Amino acid sequence: VAKGAGKNQWRRYQAHLHNAMVARLELRSALDHAVHEGHFLLAYHPVVDLTTDQAVGFEALVRWHHPTRGIIAPAEFLEVAEESGLVVPMGRWVLDQALHTVAQWWRTLPRSRRPYVSVNVSARQFRDGAFVEQVKQALAYAGVPPQALMLELSEHLLAGEHDAIWEDLAVLHDLGVGIAIDDFGTGHSAPGDLRRRPLDVVKIDRTFLDDKTLVTGLVTLARSLGLTVIAEGIEDTAHRDTLIELGCLLGQGYLLSNPLDGTEALSLMTGGSPLPLVA
Ligand code: C2E
Ligand code: MG
Ligand code: MG
Ligand code: MG
Repeated sequence: VAKGAGKNQWRRYQAHLHNAMVARLELRSALDHAVHEGHFLLAYHPVVDLTTDQAVGFEALVRWHHPTRGIIAPAEFLEVAEESGLVVPMGRWVLDQALHTVAQWWRTLPRSRRPYVSVNVSARQFRDGAFVEQVKQALAYAGVPPQALMLELSEHLLAGEHDAIWEDLAVLHDLGVGIAIDDFGTGHSAPGDLRRRPLDVVKIDRTFLDDKTLVTGLVTLARSLGLTVIAEGIEDTAHRDTLIELGCLLGQGYLLSNPLDGTEALSLMTGGSPLPLVA
């Protein structure tokens, strides 16, 4: 009996593995299709000056616009996109689209109110050695200066990556593209390493905002490295008050605004309308 039960369990396990594998392959082929058809869209999440409530930049966040399932969040497909390499052509689309949008904003807005656009990039996008050229071409095609663009690299994804990434980032940084470490605090970077990197910004991961001691430590570290701090995931007034007290005056979060579409983002900048809060 025991032997039979074991066998059944094994079969169930095999069936489970099989289903998971099939689901993954299906996701991968649907994503491949989406990349070729351009079935994506970008949401723009304001980076807000906490003292004036004005947006200074917008982070482009990718969504999969699935023909039958609707809008799919990146958490559902980024892992497969990374593994399959589809994150490379998808990332190129994101970069082109974000720059196209920021170029429209810049054409409409007076010099003093032009926001930057920030794009999340994956380490994988550097692997074929074409990234720097891609960014230069995308900037030229959109007709915006490098200062209109910031690149965000997640700290934990950078751990264990080759220094070649940093050589590419240094070239872009020298051009004037902003470079940010995303999810700062999740990746154990050595301060000495951070100091010699071409960086402008660290974005403090939202999981730290509930712990004042940790936020204080991260802000202090970032400052000592001469970096600008942006706090992510400001969800309540306590978060905001702590940050203002620490002098960390730039942030993103549902308390300030939800992610917007390109047109909403522009009318926010033109109308000087108040930030649309999440209900
Ligand atoms: P991230 O770059 O750290 O982006 C912040 C995520 O937190 C976004 O989720 C944003 O909508 C969410 N968020 C913002 N404010 C709050 C808040 O107050 N509370 C909470 N709970 N969440 C908040 P999203 O759009 O689902 O993106 C998740 C992650 O997917 C991003 O994290 C980024 O790592 C990745 N990602 C997004 N777009 C791209 C892309 O175009 N390329 C690549 N490679 N990765 C991307
Ligand atoms: Mg980001
Ligand atoms: Mg983050
Ligand atoms: Mg964010």
